[in-house]
Amino acid sequence: MRTATTVAARAVGVTKVYGSGEATVTALDAVSVEIERGRFTAIMGPSGSGKSTLMHCLAGLDDVDSGEVFVGDTKVTGLKDKGLTDLRRTKVGFIFQQFNLLPTLTAEENIVLPLAIGGRKVDREWFDTVIDTVGLRDRLSHRPTQLSGGQQQRVACARALVSRPEVVFADEPTGNLDSTSGAEVLGFLQRSARDFGQTVVMVTHDANAASYADRVIFLADGRIVSELLEPTADAVLDMMKSLDGVVAR
Ligand code: ADP
Repeated sequence: MRTATTVAARAVGVTKVYGSGEATVTALDAVSVEIERGRFTAIMGPSGSGKSTLMHCLAGLDDVDSGEVFVGDTKVTGLKDKGLTDLRRTKVGFIFQQFNLLPTLTAEENIVLPLAIGGRKVDREWFDTVIDTVGLRDRLSHRPTQLSGGQQQRVACARALVSRPEVVFADEPTGNLDSTSGAEVLGFLQRSARDFGQTVVMVTHDANAASYADRVIFLADGRIVSELLEPTADAVLDMMKSLDGVVAR
């Protein structure tokens, strides 16, 4: 049994059902998983396997039909609006495929916005470390439209990290990037786990992206069916091929 401090988030027997009657879809079927602190975990699986639903449930963006979710020592299941708002402000950071930066704010303003909204002070030393790690020092006064896609996603990474959340959740973070910019962002997520002990959970359908993670969890039909540690892109691809076979049958 691992101690609580090694687990940044966990799902215990989580089931999530969409729709009703004949249109019922069991997106998650009694999923239990522990996300280890300070590691980079990827969630993979065929389209419709439940990846996004699992991430949304772990992050408190979606409620569950049964089971329980914890982020750090906070029980997310059953939290009311205020508790969920607190959770999103202080315990989790998000990186989205579409960057989701505010166009009227500079890069720096975007990065510190979550702290400002939460009434929290910026730790300047940590801010500087994050900015230098993502290489944004000379772009801080630029607005999103003055930045490339890769730079915008690096701003989004910095925004997610600057509050030192319990978990950073990244939803297809390289989906809108060319391969060079994608590799930069993935390298940065990898370093943030290895060098800074930041827990990162990433949903992806890209085997190469998943190979940057320390651990890959595979979903099929709403269940965790396999996992790989220290994965190579080839090993992830092989696993995906075998899962496509399972799903197709
Ligand atoms: P993935 O991220 O692996 O593509 P999702 O978690 O998005 O899978 O979806 C899992 C299943 O749940 C799919 O069958 C999908 O159609 C269904 N689903 C997801 N969100 C909704 C929703 N809001 N309403 C109805 N069905 C949904």
